[in-house]
Amino acid sequence: MCGDNVRRQAALTARHAANTSEKQQNRQGTPMGINPKTLPRPTPETQHFWDGTKAGELRLQQCSGCQHIYFPPRPFCPACSSRTVNVIKASGRGRLFSYVINHRIPKWETAPYAIAVVELEEGPRLMTNIVGVPQTPEALVLDMPVEVVFDPVSPDITLAKFRPLDSAGASR
Ligand SMILES: [Zn+2]
Repeated sequence: MCGDNVRRQAALTARHAANTSEKQQNRQGTPMGINPKTLPRPTPETQHFWDGTKAGELRLQQCSGCQHIYFPPRPFCPACSSRTVNVIKASGRGRLFSYVINHRIPKWETAPYAIAVVELEEGPRLMTNIVGVPQTPEALVLDMPVEVVFDPVSPDITLAKFRPLDSAGASR
């Protein structure tokens, strides 16, 4: 499957990158720095999502016509183009679908970190960070169960990140 090839390539890239910088292999996942210039800016289409993260909810949209659940936010169903869509609360659980470890660290960061794709239980995938684990291929295992955590990075913006479901003795 094409998607699997993409995942494999991303994981290989991550492994290669990690092998080329041994001293960074055992770093723990640390709270990430913030550059205010790169913070998301809510729009009318995405406001419900950012209101949700602030309230501790991961919000998706679902089509009333064909029941398709989708992300990122948009005012019509990407499957059937219906404009009758509702906002729903996601479970917050999913699995690590793919990632790369970014070694080109911006100046407001302190260590390499994974840019991950999580596939939610409801189906949609989103780009995010994985926290609470070393940012290494050994710790970041494809398909491992993860759950959302909310990181308030500014008064207006709370980011949705994910941690391994087992790391905090969380519910299974
Ligand atoms: Zn639809």
